[in-house]
Amino acid sequence: MNDVTASTQKKPDAKRAADRIDLAPAPEAAIEGSGCHGGKDKMVEAAKKAGKSDILDQYAADYPAKENAQGPHDQPQSMCPAFGSLRVGLRMRRTATILSGSACCVYGLTFTSHFYGARRSVGYVPFSSETLVTGKLFEDIKEAVEQMADPEKYDTIVVTNLCVPTASGVPLRLLPDAINGVRIIGIDVPGFGIPTHAEAKDVLAGAMLKYAREEAEQGPVAAPKERADKPSVTLLGEMFPADPVGIGHMLEPLGLAAGPVVPTREWRELYTALDGAVVAAIHPFYTASVREFEAAGRKVVGSAPVGCDGTAAWLESIGQATGASADQIAAAQNAILPAIKGALGAMPINGRITVSGYEGSELLVARLLIESGADVPYVGTACPQTKWSDVDRAWLEAKGVRVNYRASLEEDIAAVEEFGPDLSIGTTPVVQHAKAKAIPALYFTNLISARPLMGPAGAGSLAQVVNAAMANKERFDRMTEFFEGVGEGHSTGIWEDTPTDRPKFKARYAAQNAAAAKAAEAIGS
Ligand code: SF4
Repeated sequence: MNDVTASTQKKPDAKRAADRIDLAPAPEAAIEGSGCHGGKDKMVEAAKKAGKSDILDQYAADYPAKENAQGPHDQPQSMCPAFGSLRVGLRMRRTATILSGSACCVYGLTFTSHFYGARRSVGYVPFSSETLVTGKLFEDIKEAVEQMADPEKYDTIVVTNLCVPTASGVPLRLLPDAINGVRIIGIDVPGFGIPTHAEAKDVLAGAMLKYAREEAEQGPVAAPKERADKPSVTLLGEMFPADPVGIGHMLEPLGLAAGPVVPTREWRELYTALDGAVVAAIHPFYTASVREFEAAGRKVVGSAPVGCDGTAAWLESIGQATGASADQIAAAQNAILPAIKGALGAMPINGRITVSGYEGSELLVARLLIESGADVPYVGTACPQTKWSDVDRAWLEAKGVRVNYRASLEEDIAAVEEFGPDLSIGTTPVVQHAKAKAIPALYFTNLISARPLMGPAGAGSLAQVVNAAMANKERFDRMTEFFEGVGEGHSTGIWEDTPTDRPKFKARYAAQNAAAAKAAEAIGS
């Protein structure tokens, strides 16, 4: 019999007292944390004490936060970063994935990965306070890896420590490098060390490149399925499948071919990637991967072949990095630039557009929009500033664009308010904000990243979706007019008595929720 029943039996006639919410300020400890984004300092401190200092220091150097500010993940605006590395692993053939973390995190990550079409199961090693504290969790992970290491099925098993096991120092580095010939890669991907899911892709890509580089240093490795008859350009950063094909055509006059795209879809492609004549950092945030390419003696070139200016400059940089002659570079430029110019001219964009996202290609998209004729006053990216996007930043700033690295949601929304664009390209909440103001908006990840950007195909394709969205303005105005007067937020709807907002109650519950979540996280439930 529990306490509630006992008290009911003692006082059968007692009237239920109305709930009373104490509106006194919440204790500081409760306000500090907010779900999985809260208590960062304590998690970092715990992880450092548990022996993860070197990993966290490396992450701080590779994925720096903005000066005087925390990364976007600290202001519940980014999805769990581990989704980035999880997705990279799930896309790779003959690769198994095991997560070690709180059940709620694993539920969210597997749900999202299957929502985005993963066709594979995600392994999970659950834990309790006891297995976490006594070190049994590491033994359980090791046992799971040993059971899964079947060379008939897998080339590689990737084990990922999420927040709690990282903070508790679960030592994945002590896993064997290989079992039965199956490579074992253990990575820590904590939300308190890696600001965005984009950068978490680099954590796994970099770990795989390191492993592959060390294999190649020790002796012969598997040959690629298809070997290009020319030196190749490794493409760093996920892109629309047609883009590498278009880049390949652009490179022909330079005597080069498009190499693999990193993150790769197959282990042996890593060797080809490391063997490229030069690496094109199409996405500029792959710091750990760049480190591995440089350790393999490869040059790295930033920016990408977008629009006329971008393509001309990129072909020149690639040509210079690979020792092409001035004539070859000019031939490559002359072969493609007229087609890009034609595509841009045929599909002009007229209107003001703000751009924000967390994919890493935001600056490239802005360049293409501007070359198509759009007025782009603001570009926000959740990714950090690196030298691989310097060319794009300088080009945009010369056109008067405000470029905001590590942009927060508030900053992206403020830009929509400030510039009153004809179209807002952004993350879900930015798009939601714009649409509520009857401003047409496009979700960056699903609608912009999912189409070509490079060469003539990119110019035509982007203009098509952008112009179609801007043409919807009249529909937004009609909808706004139709719903005029139905209220907003807490008073949405038609009411006889309009509900009264109770912001103090919300603040109090938010603080209590945060405290409860923090307590649960601390014991790894
Ligand atoms: S792993 Fe960390 S960042 Fe990801 S959902 Fe869990 S607590 Fe949040």
